[in-house]
Amino acid sequence: MTAQIIDGKARAAALRADIATHVARLSQDHGVTPGLAVVLVGEDPASQVYVRSKGRQTVEAGMESFEHKLPADTSEDALLALIDDLNKDPQVHGILVQLPLPDHLDSDLVINAIDPAKDVDGFHISNVGLLGTGQDAMVPCTPLGCLMLLRETLGDLSGMDAVVIGRSNIVGKPMAHLLLGDSCTVTIAHSRTRDLPARVAAADIVVAAVGRPQMVKGDWIKPGATVIDVGINRIDKPEGGTRLVGDVDFDSVAPVAGAITPVPGGVGPMTIACLLANTLTACCRIHGLPVPE
Ligand code: NDP
Repeated sequence: MTAQIIDGKARAAALRADIATHVARLSQDHGVTPGLAVVLVGEDPASQVYVRSKGRQTVEAGMESFEHKLPADTSEDALLALIDDLNKDPQVHGILVQLPLPDHLDSDLVINAIDPAKDVDGFHISNVGLLGTGQDAMVPCTPLGCLMLLRETLGDLSGMDAVVIGRSNIVGKPMAHLLLGDSCTVTIAHSRTRDLPARVAAADIVVAAVGRPQMVKGDWIKPGATVIDVGINRIDKPEGGTRLVGDVDFDSVAPVAGAITPVPGGVGPMTIACLLANTLTACCRIHGLPVPE
């Protein structure tokens, strides 16, 4: 038996097409165009790639994209002043500050300066609190994308045993809250967890968000389990050059699992699609319009 490969690329394309339809209707019926502002401080090459592709996909969905590229030595005051302007700008419905920020900037302070209604990354403390208490929140894009793939693959998740490996504020913790919200029994594992393979072996759902290439092995996995691989790691190829791999050892896990996301082409494309979905949601809420399902 070989696992079903969960096609995140196709799912993300379908989601973006849906969003584009809603965006077109919004501007036709209400004269409103959702706008996403992305703020990039410094020259980090990976961040530049992400920001470029976010901008491109925003425009392709019919939304307005506002890019603010600031030099690496930008002061905290200058950054906070820009965020204040974006908070007040009626054309901007979503604000994303690309992380990581240079060391001299306090990311918590900066993120918490964003108007929670425009916090499309879902990292503002108010949105974290709303998610943690099961209320309507802006949900972080990567875990939201994982949840969509899980629901589509498995249907009702109620009563399933889930292990989330990783406890970051960006992926692990919000993922665990979302799974709990869908009535899974959730274990959050991290670098101090004892006997990780045994915990993974009991899980119907495994979400790996660790940042360690190919760490999760096939002999850890319960036969038929659904495996979501969030990791993006670049490793050297024996023949020279590099390639992207996840936190899951795909070759040993795929023959055991029931379903698995590939890297690339799994969770990654869903993240940007969910950013667009959150921008549409923010725009509708700000204008008092119904949020598309
Ligand atoms: P962080 O480094 O913030 O968190 C990693 C987590 O993994 C920590 O909680 C850490 O535990 C845990 N961990 C580290 N080593 C082990 C181990 N040996 N056993 C068990 N747990 C361990 O990473 P992120 O959450 O930001 O990202 C995780 C991965 O997901 C990365 O590869 C990143 O590139 C990728 N990513 C992909 C995205 C996408 O769009 N597909 C978006 C965001 C991230 P502790 O807390 O104890 O240190």
